[in-house]
Amino acid sequence: MADMISRRQFMHIAAAGAGAMMAAPGASFGQTKSGVQPWYKQAYRRNVIDMHIMDWNPEFLSRFDPDVYVERLRTAKAQSAVLYAHSHAGLCYFPTKLGKTHAAYEGKDHLARTVDGLRKNDIAVVLYMSLIHDTWAYRNHDEWKIRRADGAGAAEGSRYGICCPNAIGYRDYIAGLAEEVCAQYEFEGIRFDMTFWPRVCYCAHCAKRFADEVGGEVPKTINWEDPAWVAFQRKREAWLVEFAKHMTQTVKNRKPNATVEHQASTFLANWRLGVTEPLAAQNDFLQGDFYGDALQGSLIRKLLHNLSPNLPYGFETSVMLNLQNHTALKSEALLAAKAAASIADGGAFIFIDAIDPAGTINPATYETMGRVFAQTIPYEEHAGGELVQEVAVYLSTESKFDFAQNGLSVEDYSREGAPHLEALIGACRALRAHHVPYGVITKKDLAKLDRHKVLILPNVLMMDDEEIAGIRAWVDGGGKLYASRDTSLVTKDGKRQGDFMLGDLFGVTNTGTTAERVTYIAPSNTEIFSPYTIASPLMLPATQRSIVAKEGVIVLGTLTLPYTNPDDGEKYASIHSNPPGIATDKPSVVAKRFGKGLVIYAAEALEVHEHCAGIFVRLLRMLCPQFAIEGDIPACVEFTLFHQPDRKRLVLSAVNFQKELPNLPVRSAGVSVDVKGHAVKRVLELPDGAEIPHSTDGERVNIELPAIETLRMIALEYA
Ligand SMILES: [Zn+2]
Repeated sequence: MADMISRRQFMHIAAAGAGAMMAAPGASFGQTKSGVQPWYKQAYRRNVIDMHIMDWNPEFLSRFDPDVYVERLRTAKAQSAVLYAHSHAGLCYFPTKLGKTHAAYEGKDHLARTVDGLRKNDIAVVLYMSLIHDTWAYRNHDEWKIRRADGAGAAEGSRYGICCPNAIGYRDYIAGLAEEVCAQYEFEGIRFDMTFWPRVCYCAHCAKRFADEVGGEVPKTINWEDPAWVAFQRKREAWLVEFAKHMTQTVKNRKPNATVEHQASTFLANWRLGVTEPLAAQNDFLQGDFYGDALQGSLIRKLLHNLSPNLPYGFETSVMLNLQNHTALKSEALLAAKAAASIADGGAFIFIDAIDPAGTINPATYETMGRVFAQTIPYEEHAGGELVQEVAVYLSTESKFDFAQNGLSVEDYSREGAPHLEALIGACRALRAHHVPYGVITKKDLAKLDRHKVLILPNVLMMDDEEIAGIRAWVDGGGKLYASRDTSLVTKDGKRQGDFMLGDLFGVTNTGTTAERVTYIAPSNTEIFSPYTIASPLMLPATQRSIVAKEGVIVLGTLTLPYTNPDDGEKYASIHSNPPGIATDKPSVVAKRFGKGLVIYAAEALEVHEHCAGIFVRLLRMLCPQFAIEGDIPACVEFTLFHQPDRKRLVLSAVNFQKELPNLPVRSAGVSVDVKGHAVKRVLELPDGAEIPHSTDGERVNIELPAIETLRMIALEYA
């Protein structure tokens, strides 16, 4: 079976003609089987075994057996392995002059034997090193500690020692460990984990850098409209990229063919981690671990697809319920649904397990992995391509905070919300449930806006001139834009503007926010806002921006306020709720032509509110009446569509991912697909190639999709 797959992959790669990739990182591995492709190009099945084990107990890792390790991964059908060279505990699994080797590895060649065993079995080796998180280093080097605002070490009494990436000694130590690893082993890649700020650091090194590069003392009060605070945050982000670059280059200088990745689950984490879009460029590909629901997986993969410098990206999840559970396992049905969703989105899928302290590995877990991967293997050769993403949801990695935090001490974690992220997630939830082909993009994609029909700016709290200019030009040329709430009011250096920087596109002027935290939208257009009417307007558990419409704007809904301010404890209309009482002529949602484009602006981020999902999508349909995939199918099914021009086909995947598993099959249903002007000659079910009847209707092809248990993949071949 393994040989057959390798040959098939080889044929596919040979047909794709990838001869220009000779110098690509990772190209040294498995050349007999995968030509000159980097190792990760065909590695859709990957594995991580966490090994953050201390060595105070002689039993710990005493039973580690390299041969068993390799055998387990063979059982799992893994094509690559993240193998620990250095853990969060700070102990090394190799001989080191700079750090401390784990006691069970002293005088043994476990790592070398495991590396050799994996490579002999064509399992690519990615050596793991923990950055910033290093308990041994933290406990042995006071001057490397990340420090709280009061100067205390940030991890006293904690399992997780954390070292500052600005501490010169720490930087030399961790880069030195990477050099030792490079000198001693042959491998396909390095994974650097935890390349983020676990908290805001006030150590002497950070203070000096801030004084030298910005001037003055490091601010200790959060204030997103204070230039000094915002400058500090921008520096934290830049310092992290610089540190990542230092580590990436350390490896590349010694192993130019090795891939380097920094754990990539943090791009949607809040501002404290300091992870921004430029960090992506320090990776050959992105791979991160996620423990959330089907929606989280969907939107993360849409982001990684666009953000990863190379494809496929990797989507990881633990076989355990989460990393805090050592033996409690996810159900096989859940793992299978996640693996199916990943291959449908063109991503590699990675199982994370954790080694037993003694060094043993539960064989049953690897049999489960093997069964799950056996289901996705037949789809691998059909995965990926150009993602059809007609609607792009914009992620601003500098907007992952809340203005409501202004004035809080940096050590106050009581308001950790991020309205921009909540709006982004809400938008993706609505798009996914309504089968709208979507992607998540960042600033690096500004030059590629033309591949999208609609751009969503979900309450983007900070924007820079480049973003403003790029988006304005795209809309002027015919792009369709939906923007909500505070979008474009504040610059990335924290300067609040008198009016929206994109006000000419929105067609409104900003005059503040409502005092009431419960507001309503009275629809001028009842079709879009159905079932809401002027008499029974749409309730929002939120304030709205107060706006004034400019000339030539179509008002789709107006602001209605409750009878009294909900915070008035004395006077109210109805004791439990705040019914609508005061109609106004202030706009809440407007539409406007701008150049050849069209814009909708909403004074509250409608996309946040689950009960507004249908309204939100109907507003988008004003901008784009029909999307590439249309079908009356339950929301538990997600469609993804890839164009594979080299194979003259579109590949449509349908993943059934229900909250209660195992899935009930979704009955067969009609789906209509926009085939972009191609003359479709036949529609095939993948991977077996059975033909499915289809009919053509202009630029669209209608298919009766067979019942969907977990995954259906369909190829629409054109002449
Ligand atoms: Zn520091």
